[in-house]
Amino acid sequence: MMEGSAGLKHKHLEFTLAAVSELSSSSVSSSSSYTPVIARFSADGGVAELRFRQGSEFIDGFNVDLGTAQLFKLGPVKSLCVSESSETNKERPYSWGVTIEFRNEEESRDFHSAFEQWKEEDVVQGTHLPNGAISASKSKFDNKIEPSSAKMYFHYYGQLLHQQNMLQDYVRTGTYYAAVIENRADFTGHVVVDVGAGSGILSLFAAQAGAKHVYAVEASEMAEYARKLIAGNPTLGQRITVIKGKIEEVELPEKADILISEPMGTLLVNERMLESYIIARDRFLVPNGKMFPSIGRIHMAPFSDEYLFVEIANKALFWQQQNYYGVDLTPLYGSAFQGYFSQPVVDAFDPRLLVSPPMCHVIDFTEVKEEDLYEIDIPLKFTASVGTRVHGLACWFDVLFNGSTVQRWLTTAPGAPTTHWYQIRCVLSQPIYVMAGQEITGRLHMIAHNAQSYTIYLTLSAKMWGPGAEQGGILQTSSCKLDLKEPYYRMSQPQPYTLAQDQQPHQLLQAQDIPIHAEDLEEPELLQQPSENSGAQLQ
Ligand code: SAH
Repeated sequence: MMEGSAGLKHKHLEFTLAAVSELSSSSVSSSSSYTPVIARFSADGGVAELRFRQGSEFIDGFNVDLGTAQLFKLGPVKSLCVSESSETNKERPYSWGVTIEFRNEEESRDFHSAFEQWKEEDVVQGTHLPNGAISASKSKFDNKIEPSSAKMYFHYYGQLLHQQNMLQDYVRTGTYYAAVIENRADFTGHVVVDVGAGSGILSLFAAQAGAKHVYAVEASEMAEYARKLIAGNPTLGQRITVIKGKIEEVELPEKADILISEPMGTLLVNERMLESYIIARDRFLVPNGKMFPSIGRIHMAPFSDEYLFVEIANKALFWQQQNYYGVDLTPLYGSAFQGYFSQPVVDAFDPRLLVSPPMCHVIDFTEVKEEDLYEIDIPLKFTASVGTRVHGLACWFDVLFNGSTVQRWLTTAPGAPTTHWYQIRCVLSQPIYVMAGQEITGRLHMIAHNAQSYTIYLTLSAKMWGPGAEQGGILQTSSCKLDLKEPYYRMSQPQPYTLAQDQQPHQLLQAQDIPIHAEDLEEPELLQQPSENSGAQLQ
């Protein structure tokens, strides 16, 4: 797409046409052997326009402002160019169109790609990068995300410590590594786009697996560090190009055979980066190209955890004081109570707390539309395995690397080796009572908001047990509203569930980078250590 950009430096580009005519007018200018009709793109004074001339005479009134114009294909050698009215064009205070006939299909194709490039020239005005360009027009990202949220988000990812936190999640990074290396055939000789490259690690893995070229797209300042890291690994780095910018906004010189990305947040969808992954698919992936990962699943099950419930309820007790330095705090008790129950709890829990087998909601990244992620509505239905008090809904996710050689899942399930995503629990301020075999129904309704996260509406219901149950229709129902953007990281609390045995000592060793042997460490104590950094992570 970009190879013609050298042409933009010469301030004009010309195409010979078969004919051009104004829509809704009978005047046609056709090429003859003496006077061909020429279309001329130019960008004088930073304004890109398209004009038509026959011989040396410009055809009057056929000036197309490329900033607002659109080009449609009517047939293999016939196209329609529609131009908006413009203030400068007093003669035409309305939209108008010209029909363009080409001499052959190849010229039609070339004209269309030139049109797009010159149009961009109008918007960008000279900010072309060697391997991509950033458009100055408002992108899909800007249209839906609050600028202050985006600023904080990319500031966070611009820092090495947060990239390190993800790199030190060995379950995560190791699974990506294995999935890529075991599926070399999907990478060797292929063009790869790394969506949200961060430190560039996945690009380097793809290069290790023999990628022909990798475009590492990263919007935050981390792009500079990725360049440095990649330059320091020259045998791989010569096949990687880092492009700084949002995937919604950059231009790439070629399409990708395979996309690789780690766009998952807590509950899979937090951060709304999946949408960027889908936009990358629509913009850059060849038809039937591969996506690593290709599918995500949200798993859900009701749980019972009296300790957690009491802990949250107790937080609000502070506001029960009637004499706090002589001030009655109770007017704010209700709000504080509600506030604490609106925070999804992030920690690793014992899967024995689950009250029923989980159900799952599949998101197929190869098929889903970006807009489908704006609102996710999941009907819930479980059968309780035990009689207990249900305190809410536990959720986790996994993603699939559907390689041609090996299929591999990256899971964040309770009981599996812990990842930096942990699991997430939505706690009801009013628990519900169930008996073994009883059906629990409900709804998990998530609505995306412009701060790169979701508002969660959870409802769980169980038919009442005891007198009246026979008649049916008597329900215990409990609902809550949570903000996925404001989770409660519970990692500083003592863990009722010891974290995966094979993880923590290694993580600590790596973090401190000191050459001691795992045997020297007092393991039982270490296993109780809360994880570091966990309070600060976005994912
Ligand atoms: N791929 C890296 C980093 C994953 S974190 C790894 O696996 O270690 C996600 C990264 O995507 C962050 O660095 C973030 O800045 C970047 N990102 C998020 N949304 C983006 C977008 N719309 N365009 C480009 N980069 C984006």
